[in-house]
Amino acid sequence: MELEIVTVGTELLLGFTLDSNAADIARALAAVGARVTRRVTVGDDERAIRDAVAGSLRHTKLAVVTGGLGPTKDDVTKTAVARLFGAPLELDEAYLGALTRRFARFRRAPMPLSNRSQAEFPRGATRIPNARGTAPGLILQGPLGTAVLLPGVPAEMRQMLGDHVVPFIEGLMSREGHRGWPIRSHTLRTTGVTESGLADLLAGLEPGLEGVSLAYLPGWEGVDLRLTAQVADRGEGEGEGDGDGPLLRAAARIQDAIGERYYGPGEVDLAEVVLAGLRARGWRLAVAESCTGGMVGSRLTAIPGASDVFVGGIIAYANDSKARDLGVPPVVLAAEGAVSEVVALAMAEGVAKRFHTESAIAVTGVAGPSGGTPEKPVGTVVVAARALERSVVRTLHLPGSRQEVRSRSTQAALDLLRLLLARS
Ligand code: ATP
Ligand code: MG
Repeated sequence: MELEIVTVGTELLLGFTLDSNAADIARALAAVGARVTRRVTVGDDERAIRDAVAGSLRHTKLAVVTGGLGPTKDDVTKTAVARLFGAPLELDEAYLGALTRRFARFRRAPMPLSNRSQAEFPRGATRIPNARGTAPGLILQGPLGTAVLLPGVPAEMRQMLGDHVVPFIEGLMSREGHRGWPIRSHTLRTTGVTESGLADLLAGLEPGLEGVSLAYLPGWEGVDLRLTAQVADRGEGEGEGDGDGPLLRAAARIQDAIGERYYGPGEVDLAEVVLAGLRARGWRLAVAESCTGGMVGSRLTAIPGASDVFVGGIIAYANDSKARDLGVPPVVLAAEGAVSEVVALAMAEGVAKRFHTESAIAVTGVAGPSGGTPEKPVGTVVVAARALERSVVRTLHLPGSRQEVRSRSTQAALDLLRLLLARS
């Protein structure tokens, strides 16, 4: 089954809004075996919308359209597609009544006149309930094909997509006898190793991956490995998940090959992994941060339930603070400089003592763009981790802007503690 996506919105054309809807739709439908063959974006213009949808239906008989379903003057998708299908707009009195009451209840004000158009629907169209907003989605079917209209607001769109549109399209596929070849994927997260480093670790593995393809997705957090497979739909008598066999086998082999550089699947955050490792041991954590200015603490506190492990931290940016608040000896600071392994280790020890925690993380570095020296250029960062009496320290040379160096430092610091826990 093939389809095209039409996203509507002048803000998309101008580049003020990124077209996340098209990506969400393509991913969700690929997962059930429907293939997006083209994406078109048009402004809030009735003629342009009609032409785009007409073109898509000529190509694939199925178009999924988002945006322009709202009550304002620039929302013309419903009118445009209704005209294309030759379906007159009809006022639904019952719906109008419900809409009016809903307004009175939630907004305690009379409904604006412009909302009235929301109670008009193309004759014969099926409505898709919108649990998060006022504009329902619409499905129009006719000799031209099928058009699915969804609101532009991403949260509304996503919910309706998952709850209604994906099942609807699966139904179309099975009625029309399409054999689905759903795209399945599985992501392995790694950090502290470059793309080419990973490629070396995985050299020689690819022939054995049973048609599973492998993508390297580098970012400041590390390199994600995305495995993708097209699996045949389950036939009669096959169990749940059988089609995922090659994908899971490939993931296991790759995980084996990359060893301790792997920290988790899919969307898992490294901070979450570190917290879980500490929680399992009943240990608590404090952080001492210089160039990251609280980013390590921020990553940790972003994880729900961090409080049973994470106690607190000190942002010791100036040397004075490193000495006074963390107990780093001023002579060491003077002799070695703030960005040095002895200082990072002393920071970790200082913060662990101060907060009475079993573990600690410390970061100190030159984030740039100024402040670099020939011996310690911009991007030189020292991270330290401590667990009970054991400490580890690493000096890194990180690329990128000030913000990237800080983000990468945060990740590296968390990873150092993860590895220390894994090895102890
Ligand atoms: P509303 O009832 O809010 O008017 P609508 O269906 O008319 O809904 P739009 O007005 O087109 O939708 O867009 C509403 C919001 O959703 C805007 O903030 C817009 O930037 C955003 N949006 C629209 N289309 C997309 C898209 N393709 N990807 C991401 N965001 C989008
Ligand atoms: Mg709108």
